[in-house]
Amino acid sequence: MKICTSVTDFVKSREESGKSVGFVPTMGALHAGHESLVRKSVEENETTVASIYVNPTQFDNQNDLAAYPETLEQDQRIFESLGVDLLLIPTFEQMYPDGFRYQVLETEFARNLCGAHRDGHFTGVLTIVMKLLNIVRPNRAYFGEKDYQQYLLIRDMVDTFFMDVEIVPCSIVRESDGLALSSRNLNLDPCARKTAPIIHELINSSATDREISDRLAEAGFDVDYVETRDGRRFVAAKVGENPVVRLIDNVAVAS
Ligand code: AMP
Repeated sequence: MKICTSVTDFVKSREESGKSVGFVPTMGALHAGHESLVRKSVEENETTVASIYVNPTQFDNQNDLAAYPETLEQDQRIFESLGVDLLLIPTFEQMYPDGFRYQVLETEFARNLCGAHRDGHFTGVLTIVMKLLNIVRPNRAYFGEKDYQQYLLIRDMVDTFFMDVEIVPCSIVRESDGLALSSRNLNLDPCARKTAPIIHELINSSATDREISDRLAEAGFDVDYVETRDGRRFVAAKVGENPVVRLIDNVAVAS
């Protein structure tokens, strides 16, 4: 596996031999959810590219950014063992030569669900994903359904801007107790970790959005939203202290 910290080096190293390229962008602190994306890419493409970049422009909360877990050496070993060919680990200066003057803005759905609670979050996400897709130029890019709103916005951005890449959705990987795997789970204190699976239990139940929201609040969560729309039920809620950990989840519901 070749590791590039410079975009110019990366562009030079990227295969030009006509091989198919799969791409898995991540913010590191890898877990089995990320691994499932990489496995799928390795299966479906001749070359797999991954990236690790904790994108500051998508964090509306500086404490959340400061507390974001980093396990770089372990991540490199995991990517290598899974068969990643090329790993891009760029800096802010590399990714934002414009200082974030240019931004990709979606004006409707990005203001709903997580966007209603994280100011500018999806502008940061769409901007960095467009930059990464333009650098890597993959045939396919893999995104987890855990971040379902993100997946939909990226899929539609690619269609809107006629970008020549297939966006491949990947199922949510969960702990045995139902908690969706997330890098932020590393920051859950033992008490919060014990409470966290109730999110999945409740969104799978026949309770209404309102009832679920109330039950989460009773269990000690600070609920951002519980909302059913377009055949899915979405939830975001914060738990714990120092740091506060924001958890999201979603499931398909029968309409
Ligand atoms: P992140 O490092 O959190 O930005 O995630 C990188 C990619 O992994 C995104 O496409 C996420 O949706 C995906 N991902 C994160 N957690 C999971 C999970 N539990 N199951 C499946 N995909 C996931």
